[in-house]
Amino acid sequence: MASLPLLETALSTAWQSEALCRTSDAAIFFPPTHFEPKAKREAREAEAKAICAACSVREECLEWALDAEEPFGVWGGHSELDRKQVLAGRLKAC
Ligand code: SF4
Repeated sequence: MASLPLLETALSTAWQSEALCRTSDAAIFFPPTHFEPKAKREAREAEAKAICAACSVREECLEWALDAEEPFGVWGGHSELDRKQVLAGRLKAC
């Protein structure tokens, strides 16, 4: 039998098996290591967000990224900046 922390981790990441991005190019979801012009970044993020829009685990993905304070990439249809705005909105609501 799995220990409680291992079980909690498995349950909290079970959604990942349903992730639509598993079959997509990860480069769409994450910025390159070199400078990315704004127009290219916006186009890349729009492409990633379009995939997220059709993903059945979008909410779980977003909450995971918010909890983890994931600093990079599009998660749950939200870019880094989008997630900062979500977190700021939640802080304001408290
Ligand atoms: S919401 Fe987007 S980033 Fe999250 S699992 Fe689905 S496709 Fe991947």
